[in-house]
Amino acid sequence: MHVKQHNNLLAFSEHNHHQCEKVLLDRAKTLCDQREVRLTLRRRQVLEILLSTHQPMGAYDVLNTLNKTEQNITPPIVYRALDFLLEQGLAHRIESENAFVPCMHPGHQCEAQFLICSNCHCVAELDSAISPVLDEAQKIGFEIRHAVIEISGLCATCRQ
Ligand SMILES: [Zn+2]
Ligand SMILES: [Zn+2]
Ligand SMILES: [Zn+2]
Repeated sequence: MHVKQHNNLLAFSEHNHHQCEKVLLDRAKTLCDQREVRLTLRRRQVLEILLSTHQPMGAYDVLNTLNKTEQNITPPIVYRALDFLLEQGLAHRIESENAFVPCMHPGHQCEAQFLICSNCHCVAELDSAISPVLDEAQKIGFEIRHAVIEISGLCATCRQ
């Protein structure tokens, strides 16, 4: 299954989410193997928690979820795992929500672009070509170092 099409279309609608989780977890494992970095048990657990929903999760949501089955999980443990996932592009930070989402297109090159529904709180990550805004910036010689595109609104399901 093509991860890109699959997830872009489905984040805001009813779908077999189990399939999303499986495809993205498999992809993460493959990428880590290729890059020779370790997806340790803890890192994988944190990724699985993020993958459980299309809604962004705060570090403390992740912490509380881990603490349901384990004891002595402290914030630094969660932050270290999140840092790894961010570095590897397996997760992204949604700045406007101060929360994290799993990457829907692991291994993609372009800047992350998000549509955030303010009603159901689901987030879709676009993998379209570079945004015209960024294109415009480059045309006037502006060198982009960091770009976060977070667009809030109502998804098609919530508009009905
Ligand atoms: Zn899903
Ligand atoms: Zn991504
Ligand atoms: Zn919605």
